[in-house]
Amino acid sequence: METAEIQRRFLKFFESNGHTVVPSAPLPAFEDPNLLFVPAGMVPFVPYFLGQATPEWNRATSVQKCIRTPDIDEVGKTSRHGTFFQMNGNFSFGDYFKEQAIRFAWDLTTGSVESGGLGLDGDRIWATVYLDDDEAIDIWHKQIGLPLDRIVRRGQADNMWSMGIPGPCGPCSELYYDRGPDYGPEGGPEVDEDRYLEFWNLVFMQNLRGGGPAKEGYEVTGDLPKKNIDTGMGMERMAALLQGVDNMYETDQVRPIIDKASELTGKRYGVSTSHTASESHPDDIRFRVIGDHVRSSLMLIGDGVAPSNEGRGYVLRRLMRRAIRAVRLLGYDKPAMPELLPVAMERMSAAYPELRTDFERISSYAYGEEEAFLKTLKHGTTILDTAVSETKSEGGKTLSGSKAFELHDTYGFPIDLTLEMAEEQGLSVDQEGFRKLMTEQRQRAKADAAARKTGHADLSAYWQLLQEQGPTDWKAYETLDTESRVIGVLKDGQPIPLAKAGDIVEVVLDRTPFYAESGGQHADAGKLVGPSLFAEVLDVQRPVKKLVVHKVRVLEGELVLDDKIEASVDPEWRLGARQAHSGTHVVHAALREVLGPTALQSGSFNRPGYLRLDFSWRSKLSDETKSEIEEVSNRAVRDDLPVAVQYMTLPEAKDFGAVALFGETYDETVRVVEIGGPWSRELCGGTHVSRSAQIGPLVLTAESSVGSGQRRVEAATGMEAYKYLARERDLVTQIAEEIGAQRGDVLERVRAILQRTKDAERELANLQAKAVSGRAAEFAANAKQVGAVKVAAVQAPEGTKGGDVRNLAMQIRGHLPEDQPGVAAVVATAGGKASIVVAANKAAQAQHVSAQALVKAALSGKGGGNDEVAQGGGVPADQAEQLLAAVTGAILA
Ligand code: ATP
Ligand code: MG
Repeated sequence: METAEIQRRFLKFFESNGHTVVPSAPLPAFEDPNLLFVPAGMVPFVPYFLGQATPEWNRATSVQKCIRTPDIDEVGKTSRHGTFFQMNGNFSFGDYFKEQAIRFAWDLTTGSVESGGLGLDGDRIWATVYLDDDEAIDIWHKQIGLPLDRIVRRGQADNMWSMGIPGPCGPCSELYYDRGPDYGPEGGPEVDEDRYLEFWNLVFMQNLRGGGPAKEGYEVTGDLPKKNIDTGMGMERMAALLQGVDNMYETDQVRPIIDKASELTGKRYGVSTSHTASESHPDDIRFRVIGDHVRSSLMLIGDGVAPSNEGRGYVLRRLMRRAIRAVRLLGYDKPAMPELLPVAMERMSAAYPELRTDFERISSYAYGEEEAFLKTLKHGTTILDTAVSETKSEGGKTLSGSKAFELHDTYGFPIDLTLEMAEEQGLSVDQEGFRKLMTEQRQRAKADAAARKTGHADLSAYWQLLQEQGPTDWKAYETLDTESRVIGVLKDGQPIPLAKAGDIVEVVLDRTPFYAESGGQHADAGKLVGPSLFAEVLDVQRPVKKLVVHKVRVLEGELVLDDKIEASVDPEWRLGARQAHSGTHVVHAALREVLGPTALQSGSFNRPGYLRLDFSWRSKLSDETKSEIEEVSNRAVRDDLPVAVQYMTLPEAKDFGAVALFGETYDETVRVVEIGGPWSRELCGGTHVSRSAQIGPLVLTAESSVGSGQRRVEAATGMEAYKYLARERDLVTQIAEEIGAQRGDVLERVRAILQRTKDAERELANLQAKAVSGRAAEFAANAKQVGAVKVAAVQAPEGTKGGDVRNLAMQIRGHLPEDQPGVAAVVATAGGKASIVVAANKAAQAQHVSAQALVKAALSGKGGGNDEVAQGGGVPADQAEQLLAAVTGAILA
């Protein structure tokens, strides 16, 4: 059964059992600052499980795209761990519970294929339950009929689910399928988790847990008032079972990538004949890594992640690099992504059609990243080789941790690559030293993150406020001032009763006009004022959905819980913010008008007077293109286009042609901002001007590269744009005055001045050379007799350049008598160093006086040239005299 069919049957089964089908959230976990990616189907439903929000339905089902980075090292080595996979789930919010959940899972799994089920053999299914969950055992045994010897009790670590922090928790029951003796020893999931393959986990959310360790050893403190169900069936694992293949990499969605890789590399997949993953041949593991990672990369870029050196982008980069390296280890060294990625897209686009329509953008990131990595590999290999030979020449056997770290940090060289390549050359690597440096770096990054906006990632205080006080009444679209009540004061994530002058604290109000940073728009600035309070608002964030948190500095008086205050946004600031945000949309539309629709925004930031926008594009923009974008933008401003805001559902918005951007999650109802009707339509929660002319002038101030396949434009808006232009004008005026030209003639005059300077420099150099060579005859006449050789040993005038030193030596030689051995030796000093040129005439060479030998004698073996002329240098300037003496000495010897 194809994966697509499993998905269809799953959703149909639960839909016909009263569940609402909810689409997958994007892979990046935008709502939870603790997560980079969504690792399980329940994540988008967390607020419902925590009672922070009420769902519109009691039952839901979904097929959620998941990424589990901790499983990366298992890929290919077990049969069941992918970095990307799809989790099919059914959820009950205070509706059905244990009995029904087990029944659903059993019926769908063992139901016959003809009747819409998945047709697994019930006699081969095992179930695990939590230690004392007798209720679950009873259901499995008495209602389903599973024999007791296929029901296994397991402890907290395996079979008690929680989010690792105080909050809901509950026992789980997992379903396993026995794949038979070919896959490992008998004895159930406790003995072998590869033979007994876990394919479905049922979580019975019924308790509350306290603090303590995340996974095991915490206390269960009570019961939940409303019980919930959360389940996850691994679609790939189910596909492997139903397609009769050994592992999840051989299913219809991944295997074609492996086959393509096999075709490219000429290596066979399936070297090992055993079904057991742990007995795999290294090549087979590499193939699986390629299949898995190429697909994961496709899905990640599809959801808006771009390769970078931190956070989500780094995970993507790591996956791509591992895949590319595996391809090379299998013996193919040309770019492989252009061959493999389309295969992955073909397989995945049935379920995710946007992968096809968006493939140009996706592939440009992937191919760009591979190109860059292949260069890195080349470059890093040279660095590594140098380091290896240095280590060896010093008699070392271990490459230093700092070298390995430098390779990793500066050249993006993965440590496993360094290990492998050093080993090939007979060296080990100081891994401990490397890890120490990595830890230090990570701690620095952590400290860095902690110092940033939503500092502490423990959100419980916010959740609690939200639970007790409800969502913030948010008035940012309507007004700049509200009468508000202080409902929370927090310091370091802990509630406090009041704050005094000088304190910096976080404040939650029942109602606020402040715009919290989101969608690339900077937070509003403003103040909180009470009878005896004056506080400045420094930042505004929404650490949890629907709760606005102001970071303020108390300047006067006290900020006390429950006080009534006035919250006011600085109107100048807000006007600037509206101009900049609308300006961002205008520049985006202009980019797409000029470059085409693939120039899609991948990130943006705006604050009063300034905006920047990152977009997919491979090459530097030409000056003409930049002017054109600027002109299209300013024409849109001049046309005074109406700006309109509409609310609609996400599918409606997409039909409407609105551009949905990455980095955002959208609610059921979305806000569409239009400028000039269809010319610019974006999903956006920002604050905007009401007509485009209010944006004021728009000036592109910079264009640059931000990583592979991405460019950034920056612009000034409104008064800042005017000031920018005024500054440029003043600069031209000043230059004109300085050089005594009319403004219009400035460029021509500057060019003329530069040309004159260049001519004068050339003239000067000529004169110097002449002056030097003019003295050649004089130098030759003063030559001394050294043994049988006439030697002119000369210090060139200070500042004589390299080429001129050589000329001088040749000219002096020319003035020495031809019938007698003669040598000219000229030293020159420049930049604190001395150099020497020696020229020997024919008669000298006939007597075996070699210029090269003389230079080498003076420079203890260094220098280059031949018998006739030779040169060398690099010794300290104060040794110039000694060089000449050494040459003379060598002639005598
Ligand atoms: P395992 O112990 O095998 O790693 P798990 O206990 O981590 O699995 P759960 O967190 O219970 O798995 O996830 C629910 C289901 O999602 C699992 O039963 C499995 O079918 C699937 N699943 C989990 N992790 C992966 C993965 N890395 N690749 C593919 N499927 C997975
Ligand atoms: Mg796991």
